Amino acid sequence: MRLCGEIEVRDREETLINLDPIQSGGRLTADAMKAVIAYGDGYSVCDACGKPFRLDHIKKPPLDAFHRDLAAFVNMDVARVVPGARRGFQAVTHTLVEPGQPVVLTALSHYTAFLAVESAGGVPREIPADGDHRITGEAAAATLEAVTREFGSAPPLLMVDHFDYQFGNEHQVREIAKAARQYDVPVLYNGAYSVGILPVDGKALGVDFVVGSGHKSMAAPAPSGILATTGEYAGEVFRTTGIRGDRTGRTFGVKEVEMMGCTLMGATVMGLLASFPHVRERVTRWEPELENARLVSDALASIEGTTILSEVPRNHTLTRTDTTGSFDGVARRHKKKGYFLTSALKDRGIGGLFPGATRVWKYNTYGLTRRQAEHVASAFREIARENSIAVR
Ligand SMILES: *Cc1c(COP(=O)(O)O)cnc(C)c1O
Repeated sequence: MRLCGEIEVRDREETLINLDPIQSGGRLTADAMKAVIAYGDGYSVCDACGKPFRLDHIKKPPLDAFHRDLAAFVNMDVARVVPGARRGFQAVTHTLVEPGQPVVLTALSHYTAFLAVESAGGVPREIPADGDHRITGEAAAATLEAVTREFGSAPPLLMVDHFDYQFGNEHQVREIAKAARQYDVPVLYNGAYSVGILPVDGKALGVDFVVGSGHKSMAAPAPSGILATTGEYAGEVFRTTGIRGDRTGRTFGVKEVEMMGCTLMGATVMGLLASFPHVRERVTRWEPELENARLVSDALASIEGTTILSEVPRNHTLTRTDTTGSFDGVARRHKKKGYFLTSALKDRGIGGLFPGATRVWKYNTYGLTRRQAEHVASAFREIARENSIAVR
């Protein structure tokens, strides 16, 4: 079926249980879908924009209150909406990092964290992960010490994921922030895989910036996200313009430089806003999500030759598994090769995994009902048995 021209209808969420690792937390709520349609036109939220002409001051729709709610949601003082977590990182690196200065991130950091460092001319220094693929406070302290010695002064920024994108492992943010405090280094908390799906308290974690992704974890359209900070850093990262036209003498009021004035002016911010009441409520239901994640990871682990590469028991719904010793053996003798698994799952109404992958792959159970999680768990077991792999 076509929407129009060559554009096909997208029905992945309607026709399959979607285990795509990056898509589950960004599925729109019905309210967000309505908002996207109603506010799809270009600068739609600017209908009632008035002095001082800035997105976070608009009262109709209630974006001013929304900005305050977002800050409170992650227990920080000031928040802005940004076009993706990556633009949140970039606003911070551009504010704090001078060319040639080191930025501490981790061996599991996302490429967008690296690019944010690069775009500011910074030099990356990674905190190593331990043998269980976890970033500890101890390793952070050691890296901060080494970097301070190497560069002759402490780094201007440390960026750390609460849950990384490779394993979905939980990292010691509180301890890492404590170590950074000793070196007077501000900490950016990357909540791309947490803000919007589980409770996040920036003050309790002791971090200076909280970044979230609207399209990854807040049931919003792309590109959207949030950047929240403390009163201490708000004046810096959200500094207002001071530039003046040399001929016209024009100045630009209270536009914020790192936000390029305004950020999300239509469907994106309205999707974020419309989903927010649901998102605020759903973070309190993280426990059942973990139960579902464990149900599926237990099922995989019960298949001979399969290992869960992420930490076990799972503390997140994103999981990395290695089926080299199970499904990959089948793939090598199967006429469909690696696609046998994709195909066997599809026959059971399950999709979203990397097509053809049978060695190391990731999946995300976020948002499944218990019945769907049980179905996924038994599907993996069934496919194993059908292909003569022992299931414990
Ligand atoms: C997805 C992801 C990002 C990028 O988020 P965007 O909102 O798409 O910019 C950054 N960091 C981590 C850990 C991620 O998983």
